[in-house]
Amino acid sequence: TLTDWPTITDELAHLDLITDPTGVAKLSLDYYHFSPILEKKLQDKRGNLVIRPVNESEVLQIAKTCVKHKVPLTVRGAGTGNYGQCIPLEGGIILDTTKMNQIRWIKPGLACVEPGVKMAAFDKKAREIGWELRMAPSTYRTATIGGFIGGGSVGMGSITYGQLRDRGSLRAVRVVTLEDEPRILELRGDEVQKVNHAYGTNGIITELEIPLAPAHPWVELIVVFDEFMTAARFGQALGDSDGIVKKLVSIHAWPIPSYFTALESYLPKGKHCAFVMIADYDLEPFQDLVKEYNGQVTYQKTPQEASKGTSLLEFTWNHTTLLARSIDPNLTYLQTFYFTLERVEQMYHHFGDEAMIHLEFLRFHGKAIPAGLQLIRFTTEERLNEIIRYHEEQGAGIANPHTYILEDGGRKVIDLDQVCFKEKVDPYGLMNPGKMRGWLEREKA
Ligand code: FAD
Repeated sequence: TLTDWPTITDELAHLDLITDPTGVAKLSLDYYHFSPILEKKLQDKRGNLVIRPVNESEVLQIAKTCVKHKVPLTVRGAGTGNYGQCIPLEGGIILDTTKMNQIRWIKPGLACVEPGVKMAAFDKKAREIGWELRMAPSTYRTATIGGFIGGGSVGMGSITYGQLRDRGSLRAVRVVTLEDEPRILELRGDEVQKVNHAYGTNGIITELEIPLAPAHPWVELIVVFDEFMTAARFGQALGDSDGIVKKLVSIHAWPIPSYFTALESYLPKGKHCAFVMIADYDLEPFQDLVKEYNGQVTYQKTPQEASKGTSLLEFTWNHTTLLARSIDPNLTYLQTFYFTLERVEQMYHHFGDEAMIHLEFLRFHGKAIPAGLQLIRFTTEERLNEIIRYHEEQGAGIANPHTYILEDGGRKVIDLDQVCFKEKVDPYGLMNPGKMRGWLEREKA
């Protein structure tokens, strides 16, 4: 049956709607184009209508209309995801959360926000009482907190606080369901994992409680090294240095630094570099660590200076890929858990220039480990898959950024709790259809 868009638009006419095709097209896409594979598959996908609710009661009205007319619904935060998470595969309504941007409360260690709150804007407020987000992606300035929970995983802060999926990284959520009579449910404790990183396939998050970290004054530094593996070992040593409070440990093999044109004068040709954020009262032990690894500090910004200009954060995590691709669009990337430096070294020698190594250190089950967002010189899909396979055969874990399927991009296993929760809250399978393998297989069976 054909969808009755005029009636749907009428029913929701009192809300903030975007119907013009250019506006809808813009809010249908994200940063999927980092992947040449996703680019081909997703570039033509569009929603039919964008709605920007301002509160939960408007979200409930949208949910009701979607269920009544059986139209797909895709939730969108800032649309900075890299795997087409918020690209509607089957058209329908795009629910843009950016106007739901109220901070409910902030107290020491914990805050409650609406999903459309931008992370940097939140931190500005939280720092007034000496706290900040425990972790945030390099899209921190634009990304929403709801979008980070729905589609993100790690970022600055992860060297100390681990990943979003770790117990404790998300405390509570309110979700609106797409049942015949949409409801508001509150999940707390381990229950939150049902919707954590579920790509908005099983409930519209309308409020979240998130833990905070003490806001230290962060100094930003660049350290350069003659040898790549010395830079990598320095990164591991800093990650393991429990006496040095830190927020970012990002290592780049040459020629990656050559893509950072704005920092050219701090990045000598042919040298490998570390971008770090260190609590300013820990600079002395940090400098001793630099000396031990024969590094050279070429850039140092005080917390005040760093808060004014572009943060080094915006050269790290997936901003590295963004900057490199702006110079060489044939580059793409992989997301890798190397787990050990031995594996990093092996891959460094095995792939050479085809997979330029970019490491981000993060805490994984209590240990600092090297993860990679290596830059790949793309040739064919077959070769890309071969590179992935080789990494996996050698014991590395790949979170494949070249698929829009939730499970295939992450741990490769179907999360039954998430699928069962979807059965309950989205019985018609209207939420972000086509993204959850567990649901697709259930439909086939
Ligand atoms: P969106 O892209 O809008 O949404 C992400 C997913 O969450 C979608 O599936 C959407 O449907 C769902 N969603 C959004 N809001 C809700 C809601 N209220 N209820 C239910 N589901 C919802 N990611 C990292 O983890 N770490 C990084 O360091 C990082 N660096 C990046 C660098 C660049 C240059 C780019 C382009 C991306 C990067 N990303 C990174 C990916 C992305 O920017 C982050 O994950 C970001 O937090 C997503 O937020 P968003 O508001 O843009 O979400």
